[in-house]
Amino acid sequence: MIIAIDGPAASGKGTLGRKLATHYRFHHLDTGLLYRGVAARLLADGAPLDDREAAHRAACDLDIADLDATRLRTAELGEGASIIAAYPAVRLALLELQRDFARRAPGAVLDGRDIGSVVCPHADCKLFVTASAEERARRRAREFAAMGAGPSYEAVLADIQRRDARDGTRSNAPLVMASDAVLLDTTKLDIEAALQAAIDIVDGSANLAQG
Ligand code: C5P
Repeated sequence: MIIAIDGPAASGKGTLGRKLATHYRFHHLDTGLLYRGVAARLLADGAPLDDREAAHRAACDLDIADLDATRLRTAELGEGASIIAAYPAVRLALLELQRDFARRAPGAVLDGRDIGSVVCPHADCKLFVTASAEERARRRAREFAAMGAGPSYEAVLADIQRRDARDGTRSNAPLVMASDAVLLDTTKLDIEAALQAAIDIVDGSANLAQG
């Protein structure tokens, strides 16, 4: 079984994906970490983010087992990831890796921007998780603050709006809600309520599949 979760930056899709995977005892892949991993490799090698060749090589060499979420979830790498994520060769290099992961038994939850639309168009259940930009910025600023001195709310909001615009308008696999995805707006939901709503949606689609 494959559960595809898409949505904009800081919508809560990563936390939901992790919790859904725990609930169903499925594997979980936060695909944003792949793009962040590519950006991190470029920066570590001193290559500029507009070096498409270097970005492609980094994507081909990426190993899922090496992705350290704590190290990769910085504002700088989020911005860098959204730049290299627009390169078609990078997306193509990461496609099979994600599809292989999606085939893991007994099931997999993948979250990102194009899971329901491109990576797993035949997923058993598709969720599109969103929240207002202001609420997403508040949550992300709180997370950064908990990790030590982080950027201000205003800086996080500007970063989110910039990434929304870039992710939503790129020509290759832009952030779109798949026509058969279910919308989950978490603006007014805490994580427990959002998780319950997501479980209800997944269970509902599993019942439908069984006829
Ligand atoms: O989800 P996260 O904020 O970690 O993703 C970082 C960036 O990686 C996004 O802004 C987006 O540009 C890119 N991304 C993508 N497709 C995915 C996951 C992430 O383009 N499936």
